[in-house]
Amino acid sequence: MKNFAIAIHGGAGTILRSSMTPEKEQQYTKALYDAINAGYKILEAGGSSLDAVEASVMFMENFPLFNAGRGAVFTHKGMHEMDASIMDGATLEAGAVCGISNVQNPVHLARVIKEKSGHVLLSGGEAAVFAKKMKLPFQPDEYFFNDERYKQWQDVKDSDTYQLDHTDKTETGEKKFGTVGAVALDMNGNIAAATSTGGMTNKRFGRVGDSPIIGAGTYANNKTCAVSCTGHGEFFIRAVVAYDISCLMEYKEMSLHDACNYVVKDKLVKFGGEGGLIAIDANANIELVFNSDGMYRAWKKNNDETQVRIYED
Ligand code: ASP
Repeated sequence: MKNFAIAIHGGAGTILRSSMTPEKEQQYTKALYDAINAGYKILEAGGSSLDAVEASVMFMENFPLFNAGRGAVFTHKGMHEMDASIMDGATLEAGAVCGISNVQNPVHLARVIKEKSGHVLLSGGEAAVFAKKMKLPFQPDEYFFNDERYKQWQDVKDSDTYQLDHTDKTETGEKKFGTVGAVALDMNGNIAAATSTGGMTNKRFGRVGDSPIIGAGTYANNKTCAVSCTGHGEFFIRAVVAYDISCLMEYKEMSLHDACNYVVKDKLVKFGGEGGLIAIDANANIELVFNSDGMYRAWKKNNDETQVRIYED
């Protein structure tokens, strides 16, 4: 049998058992199962890794618990400005969008940018013009409204600080990056990666994180690996995290395991960058590594059982 596999994340951060209710935990677990299944069934039917990562990320974008698409955090102006990217490891073609509002599925827009725009990265209002031209679904502001995210924004909106997806000072002290991402290997031996986020609560001045930056938050190359990151974007951009892992494999002949662990648990820690990533290679090796307390994550290889985890374990 030819190997096929998929891994997803729904963000990393201070995710502690002690601050999670059983209901919330169940909701996240089910969402991760359903999201991985959306991509897995494409792979199982012989579909491409690109289609699979897009499907899993779209599922999480449509699910309000994650900081992407429908659950995106509020900006300083009380809006939603989303970032997303996708990359095909077979061709090294990539598409990305940043600062996009009202598009239902930013990762789908990233895919269409890759395939139809002749460019890699489009931004803001003009990216929306392109999305309209391509007849992509849009949603009104109310669709993106979420009570919990609104409260997070109210806590910091009068300050100069921007905040990671969730820093609930009053109740749990939880700090979480809710970005979503997927990496996959299909039966043809091709790998792909996709990432989508609302970025950081109270962000302003058009702040863009690592998620739409090819090489920082997302990268895929059949020769090495496919990577999707979540964490404090500024550090991930400066450390060029996703491409660094690919380079360590290509130029230093490190294994996927060693490259991911070195970058996340050594380099990023020394650098001060909190977060994690998921990665896969063409031999169906999967890594889900983080230097924070937890990371919403799931993976499934061939016909094995789906694995879902939240905490360090
Ligand atoms: N990496 C994202 C950003 O900096 C945040 C996250 O992972 O939740 O925009």
